[in-house]
Amino acid sequence: MPKLGLGVYQVVGDEAVGTISTALELGYRSIDTAAFYGNEAEVGRAVRESGLPRDEVFVTTKLWNADHGYDAALRAFDASAKRLGLDTIDLFLIHWPLPAAGLYVDTFRALQALKRQGRVVSIGVSNFTRAHLERVIGETGEVPAINQVELHPYYAQSELRAFHAAHGIVTEAWSPLGRGAEFNDSVIIALADKLGRTPAQIILRWHMQLGNVAIPKSTTPSRMAENLAVFDFELSGREMTQIAGIDKGARQGGDPNLVD
Ligand code: NAD
Repeated sequence: MPKLGLGVYQVVGDEAVGTISTALELGYRSIDTAAFYGNEAEVGRAVRESGLPRDEVFVTTKLWNADHGYDAALRAFDASAKRLGLDTIDLFLIHWPLPAAGLYVDTFRALQALKRQGRVVSIGVSNFTRAHLERVIGETGEVPAINQVELHPYYAQSELRAFHAAHGIVTEAWSPLGRGAEFNDSVIIALADKLGRTPAQIILRWHMQLGNVAIPKSTTPSRMAENLAVFDFELSGREMTQIAGIDKGARQGGDPNLVD
């Protein structure tokens, strides 16, 4: 899976097709969508029309909260695959665990069936806490390939990352740029000035060196290119520690135990 992909939440209609086409031209090879984003058809269209071989573009989509449960999840996957118009999906995620509903293990079993049928290559989860992951692993015997969670310098999730690493789960960062929250941070600005990079590049390079997959969102071609250009410089151990020092445990999005 590419270490950097394009997130396309809130990018819809013609803008979605145009943005994804531009991203693919710029060199992006991974697109993160979801049933909830209402743009799966546009993602599929842009991927098909790119002319790139299908196995060169990694497509992730996610199962929405209304579709938890074994049969509902199978139906939801069919609908997503139809909208995407792709024969196989590279990665299918449970968008939120909804612990109060208590159906995420059954839902994951449906994802296992889809994987066995070859309709999806890899299966994973999103917004799962350690407790949710432990239950899935304990009850199904399968380790989700990936957990996509909110993660940026002000919310660095070091304990969850360590749990992922111990179990071979890939950490994927959503809102990897903290939706801009850290762009004015003095540590990030100082590093950007010192290394001749932008704040976004410093943050994305930090993700790469932590071993995260990151899916920054932008619809501006120059920013999309900027976000991809983080493989020709390195942060020193000391610089990584400086960034670790600005973690505030400050989440922006929903609490996985409460979102329903
Ligand atoms: P982000 O951290 O990617 O920030 C996006 C914001 O930063 C946008 O306003 C954009 O204009 C700006 N930006 C991007 N690149 C920039 C640059 N180089 N310079 C200046 N500004 C720049 O936040 P996000 O959009 O919330 O998250 C990214 C993706 O993560 C989403 O599109 C979606 O695919 C995914 N996501 C998943 C979940 C989930 O529950 N699984 C939740 C939220 C987002």
